[in-house]
Amino acid sequence: MAETAKILNPKKKVLIADLEAGCSLADPFKAQDVFAYKEKYPKSPVVTYINSYATVKAESDFCCTSANALEVVKYAANEFKTEQVIFLPDSFMGMNMQEDLAAEGTNIDLIYPGKNDSNLGICVVHEQFTLDMLKDIRKQFNMPKGKKETAVLAHWECKPDVLREADFYGSTSQMAKYIQNHQELRRIYLATECEMAANLSSEFPQVEFVRACSVFCPHMRRITLEKVLNSLENDVYEINIPENTRQKALKAIERMIAIN
Ligand code: SF4
Repeated sequence: MAETAKILNPKKKVLIADLEAGCSLADPFKAQDVFAYKEKYPKSPVVTYINSYATVKAESDFCCTSANALEVVKYAANEFKTEQVIFLPDSFMGMNMQEDLAAEGTNIDLIYPGKNDSNLGICVVHEQFTLDMLKDIRKQFNMPKGKKETAVLAHWECKPDVLREADFYGSTSQMAKYIQNHQELRRIYLATECEMAANLSSEFPQVEFVRACSVFCPHMRRITLEKVLNSLENDVYEINIPENTRQKALKAIERMIAIN
């Protein structure tokens, strides 16, 4: 994310408070992995999730967020006149989108890590949510399916069976919109990173957010107020990206923005 800020603002100084604050999706996935997919599927465009490094974005045709991934995938297929699109690096999101595309009758074969190979791109936070966990929450907090006043919401990065169990799934902003559009909601459980849930709960004080959350991102937790202060006071750690890589990554991001 810090790199993305720098890609879009090359003349500004961008600092990150802790160099170890990575992401389990982004960290293991390298530019060589993108090359390997492109070599295997040479006619298919590459759509890369925003949670990836600049070097990976630089080798991709499009960037996407969890809020626009489906639209970008469909646009990419149309633009490249193909029915096959490579989506990297989140395996669960790939599986979920493939289900959604099939359900709406869109004929796109989505290639993602783990589909035709043994690679896996997983968010260590969202993989912790299970179908049993959601069923328990429904029972324990009287939140059966179909009840208008309650809802179980899940993030795109969760497993497919978790999404099937949820009343709604999407990005954090899409979940916020869902809550806003359902004024009758009084109790909600969010299958997503707990701090994200905390942000939404402050946005919607009229709703009770089920406090059964103990799923925190170890990477995001590395960014503390003290470290932000240290970063600002001592000018550490500055993000620098080679200009050639930045230009190439910028193209993938700009293509996404143009679609929006
Ligand atoms: S929650 Fe943490 S590990 Fe998961 S995608 Fe976000 S930054 Fe990466």
